[in-house]
Amino acid sequence: MRNAAPAVFALFGNPVAHSLSPLMHNAALQKMGIDATYCACRVEDLEEAIEKIKKLPLRGVSVTIPFKTAVIPYLDEVEASAQAIGAVNTIWHEHTGRLKGYNTDWIGMVRDLEESLEIKKKSFAILGAGGTARAAVFGIRQRGGTPVIVNRTPERGEKLAKEFGVPFYPLAQIKGIKADCLINTTPVGMAPDRERSPLAREIVGRFRWVMDCIYNPLKTQLLKEAEEAGSTAINGLGMFVHQGAEQIRIWTGKEPPVEIMREVVLAKLKEDHGH
Ligand code: NAP
Repeated sequence: MRNAAPAVFALFGNPVAHSLSPLMHNAALQKMGIDATYCACRVEDLEEAIEKIKKLPLRGVSVTIPFKTAVIPYLDEVEASAQAIGAVNTIWHEHTGRLKGYNTDWIGMVRDLEESLEIKKKSFAILGAGGTARAAVFGIRQRGGTPVIVNRTPERGEKLAKEFGVPFYPLAQIKGIKADCLINTTPVGMAPDRERSPLAREIVGRFRWVMDCIYNPLKTQLLKEAEEAGSTAINGLGMFVHQGAEQIRIWTGKEPPVEIMREVVLAKLKEDHGH
């Protein structure tokens, strides 16, 4: 640890009851022999929760829905990639009272993609224009890939595309898009709506790789159809594990046990849902 005392880490979000972050992070910290605990906190008042980081004190915090953007004004410093994305999912209580924000979602996504393909010089159709889409556009560009945005609501998609200087297509025009990889950053297909897919079945096979950021279920309807069409399917588990692993690196300065983290989350998903 960067500090020798027993440490407390937390997740701030609402809701947090079904989050797998406590399971994953506690397994990692335990395996690393770090005297620390990680707990989920359902936050109603963000300002009050931020004050608690300093008072308790908490060494590090994961930030999730709906606070990833709202948290930014409360931080003393925001790392450049998080600033560009406009979202913070990780807070490090650097030293007493000083809070620094990071975004590890984009790192999680590119690390996971890189296990299946080389991003450089490939094209990516990114479905959605929310926080995860922003992380995707940033990450793909960082690694030399070419993103295009596809979104249901044109105004939101156009705004994001303009901000990052990338093309935009309304979802209705997806048939006209040629890309190596499709990345679903919408929640369509997430449990309990397992039968839904954000795309018409006949379009899915146009993409050599199809990534779904959803990890519950592990095999979404979109990924089932992608496999049936002969594409390589990538679920959101790897992204989740790698974004969490990067949080541990930031908080501890040490290398996390990525495979243990993956195993505990996978086992829990299998136990709960019989994947
Ligand atoms: P968000 O900011 O709310 O954005 C959601 C996007 O999905 C919006 O652009 C929205 O389009 C689109 N959308 C929603 N419902 C739709 C529908 N029925 N048809 C077409 N488009 C629809 O959400 P987010 O924070 O980016 O999260 C998105 C997903 O990523 C969630 O499922 C989350 O669990 C997942 N995620 C996974 C990881 C991981 O580690 N694996 C990390 C972060 C997030 P409009 O603009 O038209 O409303």
